[in-house]
Parts: sequence; structure tokens; C-alpha cells
Amino acid sequence: MDRDIMQSRFDRLVWRVEEARIKRSEHHIVKIVAVSKYTDEESIRLLYDLGQRAFGESRVQSLAERVEKLDDLPIEWHYIGRLQKNKINHLIRANPFLMHSLDSIELAEAMQKRLAEHGVTMEMLLQINSAKEETKAGVMPESAVETYLKIKERCPNIDLRGVMTIGAHVDDEGTIRRSFETTYSIFEKLKPQGASICSMGMSRDFELAIECGSNMIRVGSLLFE
Ligand SMILES: *Cc1c(COP(=O)(O)O)cnc(C)c1O
Repeated sequence: MDRDIMQSRFDRLVWRVEEARIKRSEHHIVKIVAVSKYTDEESIRLLYDLGQRAFGESRVQSLAERVEKLDDLPIEWHYIGRLQKNKINHLIRANPFLMHSLDSIELAEAMQKRLAEHGVTMEMLLQINSAKEETKAGVMPESAVETYLKIKERCPNIDLRGVMTIGAHVDDEGTIRRSFETTYSIFEKLKPQGASICSMGMSRDFELAIECGSNMIRVGSLLFE
């Protein structure tokens, strides 16, 4: 991608995030994860050069390849996709900074086993299916707090840092807002348990997510497409 185009998209995003976060509070800090699944390594290098440090991938294979090919840069890699159990070892080897998509107690237990075998820990977020969509992964809002606590208790190699959700996939803003509010209220209940990250908001809805309390957004198409 052309450097000037990338620069103007990035500046525009940073500015929009700035306006949204200040609307919530001057002290509300939001981290941008640039989702690079649509783009090539050259564009990642370009955005890195413009100052972006956190990048996200949704496939273990792509994450592993990019961690390797871009290992000359101190990029902070985030894993945001659905994880199949047979890819757990690959993910552990790729060693992401944060895994956003821990979506069930079964996956947590499978990961715990492998993490313990490797003698490592991984920071993760519990994914909430906040709009109860059949096509989406994540734990149901009603059982989220209980599941979070169970994972904390049973999985010492999983370092839970908070929650993640994908906003409701509808046009109605009220419905999307409710899915973010639901997730934020779970996050608030988990703060005494050490939860500090509320990952929500993508290209089409990050301002609304920030308004609802998100402190980490995952933006792809707005930057790269
Ligand atoms: C692809 C993806 C994103 C980024 O989506 P955009 O709409 O392109 O910004 C964010 N989160 C997850 C989980 C994704 O899979």
C-alpha cells in the first residue's frame, strides 16, 4: 500500500479514537490492535514504521508465519480468532502477547494441559457471545462471570486479563450498543478479580464500543482495505 494512503488512514483512525475516548473521559485510554489478516507483510512494516506496535491475526497459521517473518520488529502480536483444539500447540509456539478468544471452559482446560506441558503461561481474554448469536463463539453473558472464575481456579497457566466481544452483527445501533453494555457490565464485575482489558469494537463500531467502555479495539478493514 502507498505510504501516504496508509498514513492518512492511520491518522484519521487515531483522531477518531481520540475524540471517542475523550468523550468518555480524559483518563480513558484505548489501545488499538491493527488486525492484519487482510493485508501483506509490507503493509504491516509500513504501519509499524508509522508507530503502530500491536497487530492481530485470526488464524494460527498466519500468526505463526508473521511472527517468524517479522521477528526483526518488536511487534506485540494478538491472537483474535477461533481456536481449534488441534492448533493449540501451534499457538503456544507462536507465543502471542494476548489471546482474545478463549471461548469455553473446554478450550480453557485443553489449553491448560498443553501450557503446563510446555511449562509456560499465556495471557488471555474470555470471549463473550454478548448478543447470543448462533454463529458466534463465546460464553453466554449469564454464565460469563462464573466461567471466568472457574478458569481462574482450574487453569493456573492461563493468565486471564479481561473480556472480549464482537458487537452484534446487525444494523440497529441499539442492539449493538446493548451487546457492548452487556460485555462492559461483565467486565466491571470482574475488575475485583484483576480484569483490566475490555476488548470490543471493530472498524464499523469502535466509537460506540469506546463510548460503552472499551479500552482495546481491533481494527482491520479501515486501515488495510
Ligand atoms: C477481522 C476481525 C476484526 C477486525 O474487523 P474489521 O471489521 O476489519 O475492523 C476484529 N476482531 C475479530 C475477532 C476479527 O476476526
